[in-house]
Amino acid sequence: MLRARACGLSDVGAIRSHNEDCFEIDPEHQMFVVADGMGGHSHGEIASRIAVGAIREFVAKSTDEDATLPFDMDPKLGRHSNVLRAAIRIAHDKVLKAIRQDSALHGMGTTVVGLLLDGEVAAVAHVGDSRAYRLRDGKLELLTQDHTWVNEQVVAGFLSEEQARVHPLKNVVTRALGGDAEVVVDVREVRVEPGDLFLLCSDGLTTMLNDREILERLKSSEPLEEVCGRLVRDANSRGGFDNVSVVLTRMESAVDDDSDADATHA
Ligand code: CA
Repeated sequence: MLRARACGLSDVGAIRSHNEDCFEIDPEHQMFVVADGMGGHSHGEIASRIAVGAIREFVAKSTDEDATLPFDMDPKLGRHSNVLRAAIRIAHDKVLKAIRQDSALHGMGTTVVGLLLDGEVAAVAHVGDSRAYRLRDGKLELLTQDHTWVNEQVVAGFLSEEQARVHPLKNVVTRALGGDAEVVVDVREVRVEPGDLFLLCSDGLTTMLNDREILERLKSSEPLEEVCGRLVRDANSRGGFDNVSVVLTRMESAVDDDSDADATHA
């Protein structure tokens, strides 16, 4: 049996006046989420908080095997992956509902990336350009594909990854909660081993540090809290143009059932 020890940090960055990012660590249900809100007048804050709250609530009440899911189960996925996917679709509906109830919120939306652990399998789900990475045996693997216009151009072979990093349209997301009426959630399942380190993050990290630089910091033997702090500090020292959020989750063999979690909002 594996348990995750997790730590998270969210920071407004060096330029912006509001932090529209949001994260959640739920050690009881082994659920970890980062959301990056968007929309003027700090409405992004509202969207990301609605989404994270909805996901937390749905996951918490759906861990019971008897609970029915409001959406069709995908038979190719495990129950916890279906739970996480359904939670994100419900979060999308809640963001849309908030917009319908208050026209001033029109245009708000949020990305989301979530990880839900079930034994030795982790469900990883996302919408937008918040990312999940896994560090194993000194190698960093990106587990998500950004739902952005530039990434679509990279996949199609029209832009290199370096061109995409500096492209003027690099912030244009092609999927978000609160966007189109239907949202397509990418879900995958990855096997988990003791020692695996997962990083969930908003693009405020990945636009400031490239994968090699993230790898260098994750390989540190320092406590997770230190590594979180270093990632955020280094993103800010590069300019900190955006809010930055990181959640680190290390998989440990559970000798007894005392997982631990720390959360810090800055
Ligand atoms: Ca952002």
